[in-house]
Amino acid sequence: MREFTIDTPAPEKWGEGLVAVAGGEPLELDVRAESVHEGILISGSVETEYTGICGRCLTDIAEPLQVEFQELFAYPGEEATDFEVQDDHVDLETLVRDAIVLSLPFQPVCQPDCPGLDAITGERLADTPGEQQRTPSDPRWAALQEYTPDHDDEAPRRA
Ligand SMILES: [Zn+2]
Repeated sequence: MREFTIDTPAPEKWGEGLVAVAGGEPLELDVRAESVHEGILISGSVETEYTGICGRCLTDIAEPLQVEFQELFAYPGEEATDFEVQDDHVDLETLVRDAIVLSLPFQPVCQPDCPGLDAITGERLADTPGEQQRTPSDPRWAALQEYTPDHDDEAPRRA
């Protein structure tokens, strides 16, 4: 069994959603390689940072990310496998990339209770506390604000 610490930049942008690990972003890997009968069992973790935009208010965000991974790299044999030992080496790139991409949040937010954008002004509500209680955000409901039951003299009264 051997352990490695590897610091390397991400070779390209990883992730296609609102957030991704940018190309060149440092990756810090702790990797353990264990010899087993069928091949080499690789396990470890990677620390990096993802960047992008909040899915609600579109503000820029950058968050740390730590992901664990494990895969058996088989010695070349009769059966084809996704991960193989080649020339006494294992190529970790696909394994690490897949682990990172799968762990990126699908709907990232800048803060857990991000209120998003004002439906009328498009401004970021987190920047303008108190605005939310001002008026209904949907203009179609504005007329109802003027309505109170007291003005409704024509309505039949319950006995
Ligand atoms: Zn936000």
